[in-house]
Amino acid sequence: MQDCIFCKIVRKEIPAKVVYEDEHVIAFNDIHPQAPVHVLLIPKKHIPTLFDLTVEDAETISRLHLAAAEVARRLGLDQKGFRLVANCLEGAGQVVFHVHYHLLAGRELGWPPG
Ligand code: 5GP
Ligand code: ZN
Repeated sequence: MQDCIFCKIVRKEIPAKVVYEDEHVIAFNDIHPQAPVHVLLIPKKHIPTLFDLTVEDAETISRLHLAAAEVARRLGLDQKGFRLVANCLEGAGQVVFHVHYHLLAGRELGWPPG
């Protein structure tokens, strides 16, 4: 996808602080962090929203979860834990239409979320 900001990060056309990368997934620090730890995990494949997933994406999405746990381990969160959030469509706050999970940690996280 030519104009997608996250595809540009995948192609290294715009800079990002990458904390994890494999064949399927790339993870980088959010540009506007909402917590001391705020990492975005995205599939390298352009998928606009969670509604656009197909069964062919099952491995990619499960690898995204494995990557989240690996990132959290690397950041020393294996005792304290972390939150994984996906906003789907504008009504839930989705701004970038390339599937992503927010990995948040490092402060008290309220529940229910706002
Ligand atoms: P959404 O609201 O779509 O769930 O989250 C999009 C996230 O992408 C936001 O937290 C926003 O700060 C982050 N973001 C938007 N543009 C960029 C960018 O160019 N670089 C990085 N690292 N994060 C971005
Ligand atoms: Zn994209």
